[in-house]
Amino acid sequence: MKKPKIVILGAGYGGLMTAVKLQKQVGVNEADIVLVNKNDYHYETTWLHEASAGTLHHDRVRYEIRDVIDRHKVEFIQGTVEEIKLEEKRVILDNGDVMYDYLVVALGAEPETFGIKGLKEFAFSIVNVNSARQLREHIEYQFATYNTEAEKREERLAIVVGGAGFTGIEFLGELANRVPELCREYDVDYHKVKVICVEAAPMVLPGFDPELVNYAVAQLEKKGIEFMIGTPIKECTPEGIIVGKGEDEVEEIKAGTVVWAAGVRGSSVIEKSGFEAMRGRIKVEPDLRAPGQEDVFIVGDCALIINEEINRPYPPTAQIAMQEGEVVARNLAALIRNKQDLETFTPDIKGTVCSLGEDDAIGVAFGKKMVGGKASFMKKMIDNRSLYMIGGASLVLKKGKFNVL
Ligand code: FAD
Ligand code: NAD
Repeated sequence: MKKPKIVILGAGYGGLMTAVKLQKQVGVNEADIVLVNKNDYHYETTWLHEASAGTLHHDRVRYEIRDVIDRHKVEFIQGTVEEIKLEEKRVILDNGDVMYDYLVVALGAEPETFGIKGLKEFAFSIVNVNSARQLREHIEYQFATYNTEAEKREERLAIVVGGAGFTGIEFLGELANRVPELCREYDVDYHKVKVICVEAAPMVLPGFDPELVNYAVAQLEKKGIEFMIGTPIKECTPEGIIVGKGEDEVEEIKAGTVVWAAGVRGSSVIEKSGFEAMRGRIKVEPDLRAPGQEDVFIVGDCALIINEEINRPYPPTAQIAMQEGEVVARNLAALIRNKQDLETFTPDIKGTVCSLGEDDAIGVAFGKKMVGGKASFMKKMIDNRSLYMIGGASLVLKKGKFNVL
């Protein structure tokens, strides 16, 4: 009998977790497993703010996919997914086509710019290894150029971060530590540098514990970060940003670097392939299949799951993506053994920890609030745990964070 072919698209937290769990649960004679990813490496999306600020080298946040998959059981194809032809059970890549019997879509997120003028052209985003490297080098270029120009342009040293969500705050935490280093490296007066966080909502980290938020803001302000809250970005230009002030007024903020960290959407491949979706996210069935698609599972940032307690979607996180990957692997193993009774997915949220640079953080874990060194230690343990879950102790030894004190 012909073996079923399982194709996994994306080797991020969700896709790679599905692959490593499947390779343990399914025998070589039971199914062919194919993993497709744009690059031949996996990157820790949750560490990209560090690579973007330059506090962690970009090679530290990535590792070879072939090092963590069992090559006897999983075939790896490097390629970019362009479209899924659902009726033909075919995936179109930039370098060929792949047919499937079962599909797992785990293509992650893209920045959501809400149609705001100029953002796509002039703002940087924290998306992958290459965008992180580009942002780090752009900031360094601004510092390096500042002192070489006869007419000094202080806006070169201004960095605007749009959005005080978790990504914006974690990036600001890294920048706060990196700016003094950059000043020393490029002979720049620290007082001339401006780092401004612009947030549309009336508070930083909207919806998070106010006591922890106050701690984070105070710590970042102490290191020179300025906050403009209740201030939406309306436009991005080559010179900086335009923000809304009151009913009809606007204000220009000149800045050599604008970083858009104000929201994400699911992969654009989702809409291109004809799935019904909200901002690239598919409201999945309880067993993580796409509605009306018996053989297509969705995991990670492309999946939308409603938290029934508050009737709002769960925020897309690595924590949920990895848990989904585990359930999808079990459901696929059941399906290829002709079992129709599939497992239902319920997120098990263990907590949320937001770093404020290398040695500081805020968070709630296992129901306990924590700040400072304790929270920072917890954050590093979470980072190490995700390495362990994919690649075991050897991956933790190779890539883990041991600067815990
Ligand atoms: P990803 O892990 O992003 O993986 C997607 C994969 O698909 C990538 O390998 C990518 O290269 C590949 N891909 C994309 N498009 C294509 C294509 N067309 N063809 C082929 N391959 C493609 N969540 C937490 O739980 N805790 C945190 O502390 C945390 N910190 C974060 C910090 C930052 C700076 C950011 C940006 C996010 C953070 N998140 C955190 C959110 C978390 O990173 C995401 O929810 C998580 O990465 C989603 O997993 P995923 O598998 O859906 O996507
Ligand atoms: P987000 O949607 O959580 O936050 C975006 C922020 O941008 C919001 O505060 C929003 O009010 C603001 N904003 C939107 N439009 C704006 C505008 N025009 N001008 C100014 N501000 C504007 O997005 P994110 O921070 O990128 O996070 C994405 C996902 O990744 C979330 O689910 C988050 O929980 C997760 N994440 C988690 C962690 C962590 O657990 N440590 C870290 C990073 C990201």
